[in-house]
Amino acid sequence: TQPWNNPDAVPYIRFENVTKKFGDFYAVDDVSLDIYRHELFALLGGSGCGKTTLLRMLAGFEEPTSGKIFIDGVDMAGVPAYERPTNMMFQSYALFPHMSVEQNVAFGLVQDGVSRAEIKEQVADMLALVQMTKFAKRKPHQLSGGQRQRVALARSLVKRPKVLLLDEPLGALDKKLREQTQFELVNIQEKVGTTFVMVTHDQEEAMTMASRIAVMNEGVINQIGTPFELYEYPNSRYTANFLGQVNLIEGVLVDDDEKYAVIKSDEANCDIYIDHAVQGHEGMTFWVALRPERLRLTKDAPEDTKYNCLSGKVEEIGYLGGISTYHVRLETGKRIKVTEPNSTRQIEPRYTWEDSVWVSWEAGAASVLNK
Ligand code: ATP
Repeated sequence: TQPWNNPDAVPYIRFENVTKKFGDFYAVDDVSLDIYRHELFALLGGSGCGKTTLLRMLAGFEEPTSGKIFIDGVDMAGVPAYERPTNMMFQSYALFPHMSVEQNVAFGLVQDGVSRAEIKEQVADMLALVQMTKFAKRKPHQLSGGQRQRVALARSLVKRPKVLLLDEPLGALDKKLREQTQFELVNIQEKVGTTFVMVTHDQEEAMTMASRIAVMNEGVINQIGTPFELYEYPNSRYTANFLGQVNLIEGVLVDDDEKYAVIKSDEANCDIYIDHAVQGHEGMTFWVALRPERLRLTKDAPEDTKYNCLSGKVEEIGYLGGISTYHVRLETGKRIKVTEPNSTRQIEPRYTWEDSVWVSWEAGAASVLNK
């Protein structure tokens, strides 16, 4: 079992009712969060949600207005940043301009009196890892922004801190390098066993890298879970939207049982059948969340059109190489997005503008969110 599912597991990092106010403004509002040793934990959220402030309090650059932060059982109140077992991955601005790339990476080890031979080896390993071996002799001003960021990454990892804090670590890298570096970072993290806490606004990055993710919004944590849990079982519209694309249909619970629920919606031209119980009572309004890739698009009506079967017209087609997207306009005016994998080469899209189509799905594909 994973530590977060084990009630006896001791958290390595603990935020206990942490609040940070700037004047009257709550940047972080009563956040409680446990992070376990060896996790690669992501704080995910849009601009201004408070994720960086939370990270800076962990590093010791900001003190909470109230609440406590523990690392390895020790209360961090009043412990200065340099005495914490954390290291923040600083970005390019923190590189020494007069030193070469390898001198920058070696700096912390030199300070610690590590032997020359060992420094040489460790610096070489780190530079290889961030694909900067070729640039070892260059100065920071001779590098691109992305290259500087990779040097910063190598430099913060070389000393093997217990907790590495990363603020948008891959922000400056281009898409290809970014994807590659995501896996490399995870690999290193597994090798060195350091606990990583990462701030990102990029859901794909969080999903690819993190053991668990806290989705933040307006200073509070909306939901904590593994990438799978958050994607498949979002607890809110915010999380569902943040973790990928989703169609949301507003409807009213008209029938329910221990095993199923039926939702009626003015936006949909069919009733929606859910294959599990819904927390609530008849007459309550919910959002039904449907991921575009879980929807089936057909020209012919499915056998049973009573439930989970919308009809409409194709209104927009997008070709993205690997997948195609279709927007279907229902008679109610509601637009539904469907994505299909292009698993074989198609000269023409499967559907064209104004085609009458059916959108259907398995009862298990829908999530029901409280409004
Ligand atoms: P971004 O991705 O844009 O960096 P974020 O989620 O990391 O966003 P924070 O940097 O944590 O956001 O900031 C949260 C809120 O607190 C923002 O509204 C910000 O303007 C405010 N804030 C942060 N630092 C200060 C400060 N020193 N003084 C006043 N307000 C601040």
